[in-house]
Amino acid sequence: MKRTVLVIGAGASGMTAAAAAARGGASVTVIEGMKKPGRKLLLTGSGRCNLTNLDPGLVNRYASDTEGGAGIAADVIRRFGVRETLAFFEELGLHWTERNGYVYPRSGQAQTVLSVLTEEMKRLGVKMKYDAHVQQIFFDRQTGLWNARVGDWCYQADRLILAAGSKAYPSTGSDGSGYTLARMAGHSCLPARPALSGILAADEEKRLLKTAEGARTYGRVRLKAGAAGEVLKEDEGEIQWTAYGLSGIVIFQLSRSVPAAGEAFLEIDLVPDREEEEIRPEIQKTIDHFGGTYSPRRLLEGYVHERVAAYLAEKAGLQDRKEVCAGELARLLKNVRIGVKGVRSFEHSQVCAGGVPLREVSPETLESRISPGLYLAGELLDIDGPCGGYNLQWAWSSGYVAGTQAAAAPGGTGPDAAAGMRKKPAQR
Ligand SMILES: Cc1cc2nc3c(=O)[nH]c(=O)nc-3n(C[C@H](O)[C@H](O)[C@H](O)COP(=O)(O)OP(=O)(O)OC[C@H]3O[C@@H](n4cnc5c(N)ncnc54)[C@H](O)[C@@H]3O)c2cc1C
Repeated sequence: MKRTVLVIGAGASGMTAAAAAARGGASVTVIEGMKKPGRKLLLTGSGRCNLTNLDPGLVNRYASDTEGGAGIAADVIRRFGVRETLAFFEELGLHWTERNGYVYPRSGQAQTVLSVLTEEMKRLGVKMKYDAHVQQIFFDRQTGLWNARVGDWCYQADRLILAAGSKAYPSTGSDGSGYTLARMAGHSCLPARPALSGILAADEEKRLLKTAEGARTYGRVRLKAGAAGEVLKEDEGEIQWTAYGLSGIVIFQLSRSVPAAGEAFLEIDLVPDREEEEIRPEIQKTIDHFGGTYSPRRLLEGYVHERVAAYLAEKAGLQDRKEVCAGELARLLKNVRIGVKGVRSFEHSQVCAGGVPLREVSPETLESRISPGLYLAGELLDIDGPCGGYNLQWAWSSGYVAGTQAAAAPGGTGPDAAAGMRKKPAQR
């Protein structure tokens, strides 16, 4: 008799889980709340899909709110890692290219990744149910089957894989209902919060930031907190200046560490490759060349985008000053302080921190330690990575492990399982 497996969510992790379970010989049905699969996948990498990363230390780059969570995730990724993921996609005809370790499909389109996954599921006979938002899951002891209720109907199967994502970018379908479903099966959930998101500037900074809106600069950014200015995290890269605060990859990487309460601020070095002592004489030379009344804004434009130069001059009250000192400008470029109010909402964040603690699943199989026969995969679990393909790698790894194991585990198999998925009116 064929094992039946139900997958909730046709995102990156759910589709990989479905393909893996079907390859393992199971009869698989995917239930997806949206009208189409992979809505979030299509947005990844600005539509180009940064599907993984060749970073040799990849497994050590993840963060979790669960103690030991990152180690458990690393174990899962080792079971189906970057090499296996690339081989999986190559077998499906998806060829890839890399830039600084960031891996993209050769086509340059996220759509290709989605197409090969849906074609593979079709080849394997996976049944897809769209526009079917699961409201409840439960295990029926009498039948020995897992149930997923959609309106007045219950889908039933031997095994259930919950791959419903997080609360990030809810317009793609991941509306946080995965957390509710996991709780119905007895799981706890660490509070979800936006990660890989823009950082909101304190209200008093906003008027001035409007001047810099739209500019991109390179810089080293430190996130600091408290009166003593303890460094919480720092990173270097491109900064995008916006009216609400700051964005861009370097800011995304810091957003996870923004404290929920208390004072925090960003300290930005806009010329990280040069010392203040090197910049000062350069500026002095320009002042000498043009005369002592040369505009501070023009002097700053020698180093940063004109909008940021205008912002800096205004912030430091230099725009109307006739005489400027080279030392003052050099200090300004090396140390811009911006108060932080928080991070952007779930609607604008790429992933969520928090979720179902990893200690509640087996690291070998991703089967629930609380409700046997239930498997969890993807961003629903309390693990998140930096920008650069790490989050999708977690989705592929966890999806493949959960799918393979759900199809392989002994036990289960209700009497009608050979006929595939059962669907019956829900009893309420
Ligand atoms: C704009 C953007 C760009 C990104 N770019 C990258 C990138 O380039 N590289 C990278 O590694 N990561 C990137 N990420 C992160 C990455 O996309 C996610 O971590 C990953 O897609 C999560 O996969 P998942 O399967 O866990 O969840 P999702 O992809 O969110 O899939 C969950 C699915 O479950 C469905 N669902 C939810 N609840 C229910 C329910 N109750 N009933 C039925 N169906 C339900 C949803 O509709 C959804 O289709 C990006 C994210 C965003 C938002």
